Amino acid sequence: MGILSFPTNLAAALCAAVFAIWISTSSWGDEVVFEQDGNRQTLQGNILVEAVDGGLLFESRDGTLWMIQPRELISKNLHDEAIASFKPRELERELAKQLHNGFRIRVADQFVIIYNTEPAYARWVEGVYKRLYREFVNHWRDKRGFPLTPVNRPLVTVIYRTQAEYAEHVRRELGHDPGNMVAYYNLLTNRVTMYDLTALFRTPGMALDNERQINEILGNPNAVAMVTTIVHEATHQLMFNAGMQTRLAETPLWLNEGLAMYFETPDLNNAAGWRSAGKVNLVRLARLRQYLAHRPPDSLRTMLADDAVFREGEQMLDRYAEAWGFCYFLLNRRGPAFVEYLKHMSSKAPLLAGTSEERIQEFQTFLGDDLEKLDAEFIDFIRRLR
Ligand SMILES: [Zn+2]
Repeated sequence: MGILSFPTNLAAALCAAVFAIWISTSSWGDEVVFEQDGNRQTLQGNILVEAVDGGLLFESRDGTLWMIQPRELISKNLHDEAIASFKPRELERELAKQLHNGFRIRVADQFVIIYNTEPAYARWVEGVYKRLYREFVNHWRDKRGFPLTPVNRPLVTVIYRTQAEYAEHVRRELGHDPGNMVAYYNLLTNRVTMYDLTALFRTPGMALDNERQINEILGNPNAVAMVTTIVHEATHQLMFNAGMQTRLAETPLWLNEGLAMYFETPDLNNAAGWRSAGKVNLVRLARLRQYLAHRPPDSLRTMLADDAVFREGEQMLDRYAEAWGFCYFLLNRRGPAFVEYLKHMSSKAPLLAGTSEERIQEFQTFLGDDLEKLDAEFIDFIRRLR
């Protein structure tokens, strides 16, 4: 359910190079040649950050971010003008050169779906994602006045036919087993990866013909949380591609996750398992109420200050629930101020880390100094929620 960020050691290496210089007026298309893990690559794109030691943060035209260490860089060729990301159809042509194992591609608007499932499943995912996108724009731009930017990179989703093929991919890309992670967004590749969930709930050999049948299969109560996850991961992808957040910039996890959960709201009565943004997330609410029974008084402060609370096994789900609840509270009771805070956060440059204290101050600048009072109001709001 988390966003996968870049390997910490690489980030640390690049950040530690005295100071990363943000080239805010970066306006050239560049070509870099570099070698990573014995793999030599020549890529077109844009250099986003150049560290003092010569390390680069580079975005290739397919939307992938590359952290290139000085020792890996063979050459760079800079141009005067920025080069645009591939358009979905251009990316399709690029990807078509590398497809294997029965993979095919669907392109619809900004979405590029790479799949080796039955076509009906890819169509179903496309339908869910188009609906999410409409809802996302409707919510943020139209209802809340957040200045979303047009999505100018392809939104790529990869769907594996079986859980086993997906697990193999996860091990290759992330170096560990997927465990119970049914889908994930990788902010370096900018892709969402998943597998055909119906395989877990249908009789072997049963063909998938249409989306209604898929909704019926995934209406199984055990599938709802999984469908929720694929909405959640695509929300992360949208936030990073529609101008709400910047990849590799300092965005607190409570905010990232709280906003993704705001959109994931499952609907247990709906076969598609998902309806729209901003409904009470009953699963998270139940968890948050349990947490309130033993929630420490400094819980809000520690959540605002440090992402580490989301990684501590035992309390992880409590903290996710708290992040959902807090974002839900802010959007309902402090909407305009929270949107101003979001605008501020959206303008952050990549690879510049702030301190915990700065995080809290930044929050207070937009939402007020008195965290204790805000916390009391938040808890009162949650207790009354139906
Ligand atoms: Zn997440």
